[in-house]
Amino acid sequence: MADPRIVIVGAGPAGTRAAELLVAAGLRPVVIDESPRSGGQIYRRPPPNFTRSHEQLYGTEAGRARAIHATFDAFANKVDYRAETLAWAVKDDRVFVQKAMTVEQIPYDALLLAPGATDRLIPLEGWTRPGCYSLGAAQITLKAQGCAIGQEVVFVGTGPLLYLVAYQYMKAGIAPVAVLDTSSLAQQLRGLPLMVARPEQLIKGAQIVSALRQGGVRVLRGVRPLEVLGDDRSVTGMRFCDAAGHEQELRCTAVGMGYHLRAESQLADLAGCSFEFHPTVRQWLPVIDEMGRSSIRNVYLAGDGVRILGADGAEVAGRLAAIALLSDLGWPIDQAKVRSLQAEMRRHVRFASGIAKAFPWPHEQVAAIPDRTLICRCEAITAGELRASVKDLFSPEVNRAKAFSRVGMGRCQGRFCGPASQEVVAAANGAPIQSAGRIRGQAPVKPLPIGITEETSRG
Ligand SMILES: Cc1cc2nc3c(=O)[nH]c(=O)nc-3n(C[C@H](O)[C@H](O)[C@H](O)COP(=O)(O)OP(=O)(O)OC[C@H]3O[C@@H](n4cnc5c(N)ncnc54)[C@H](O)[C@@H]3O)c2cc1C
Repeated sequence: MADPRIVIVGAGPAGTRAAELLVAAGLRPVVIDESPRSGGQIYRRPPPNFTRSHEQLYGTEAGRARAIHATFDAFANKVDYRAETLAWAVKDDRVFVQKAMTVEQIPYDALLLAPGATDRLIPLEGWTRPGCYSLGAAQITLKAQGCAIGQEVVFVGTGPLLYLVAYQYMKAGIAPVAVLDTSSLAQQLRGLPLMVARPEQLIKGAQIVSALRQGGVRVLRGVRPLEVLGDDRSVTGMRFCDAAGHEQELRCTAVGMGYHLRAESQLADLAGCSFEFHPTVRQWLPVIDEMGRSSIRNVYLAGDGVRILGADGAEVAGRLAAIALLSDLGWPIDQAKVRSLQAEMRRHVRFASGIAKAFPWPHEQVAAIPDRTLICRCEAITAGELRASVKDLFSPEVNRAKAFSRVGMGRCQGRFCGPASQEVVAAANGAPIQSAGRIRGQAPVKPLPIGITEETSRG
């Protein structure tokens, strides 16, 4: 193909490394990202007039952040870069995008999706109170705006991000009240043999926990969160069961919560990609081969949007997917390079399975969410209402339960309530989680402004 039309969604580590290789091959891909600046989640850039250094913003990852930003800036005028542009649907080899009040269809010969991940949340009594944030939001306020979610913060959930965000708050001068981890010490030790695949990350993690403890932050493992206390104006505390089963309360003015991440796989879904269930993370993820080829001929997937492997893994995945794309278009491939990238990838996969073992999604806690708790914030549906749709209206899987209950039909399109509602539906049926299926992606994958009037079409 002489001049293939290639579209990349996502300008994070995966999208940047993919675009770099395509540009080096003489191509000019369209790069779409809804953020104002490239960098993705971990290397998110603040507004241009902010002056904090890379070291202040990214800490130990400053070098990698600088490298990703410099790489993108070096090829930015050789790609068709669409910042602040949302890819909201994929259909018939076209990506549908929205910028401000304009929508446009971009046709492609090959599509490379690298849209990253979002927080994986567990609905909790009181989680809709003002002052309760996801971990990602707590971090974004700090990284992008230099703000904190509160002065007295409790972080609750599990996974590396839980400790990292708490540490970042402490370094910014806001030592958290406590870190409440649902994973027990025994579970964390069980993940160790796999996590040694990346010793440097393991050491970094241990240093973060030790620094938190030295900074006076309480770190409790094996907890069961019960309620975010407060009223409709603020958060006043956190109630939980400790590892010994004793109920405790902590005073705080804000809560940051998150249980590792979930892949943003809706665009892959709309592109028609096949999915498979991964029991270690209890998630449905798009099927890919060792290079990032999806089940659809001209769709390639990379980064956290297909497997949560972290930023370094995302860079490797982006490169592999770009090589696969070039190879399928007839470009010559350096096989030694491919083998070395694939070996690196296997190390990331091994480490990620250790993380999944050490910080498991506490599915028993999810299945036991009390009936009165709001499970779907957007549509204000309780877990009890969802269970009723399962039992009274015979909904053995989530899409049917969604149709009857409206769980997952609101603004978030099930991105935040989906993982929990799958567990609740499966448990209410007394069936394994796979049988509940996954909430299918629907366009628009994220909300569009009301009043879009203009439509232009390219190509
Ligand atoms: C909230 C959050 C905080 C994190 N913090 C850390 C951290 O501190 N340290 C760490 O090691 N790892 C962190 N991670 C994980 C780390 O960010 C990822 O492993 C890494 O960034 C993955 O790179 P990626 O390129 O796959 O995705 P990302 O870096 O997430 O990049 C994806 C890009 O796609 C864009 N995008 C997504 N959907 C669309 C769409 N529909 N249309 C247009 N653009 C779209 C996004 O704006 C984003 O720029 C965090 C993850 C999340 C979700």
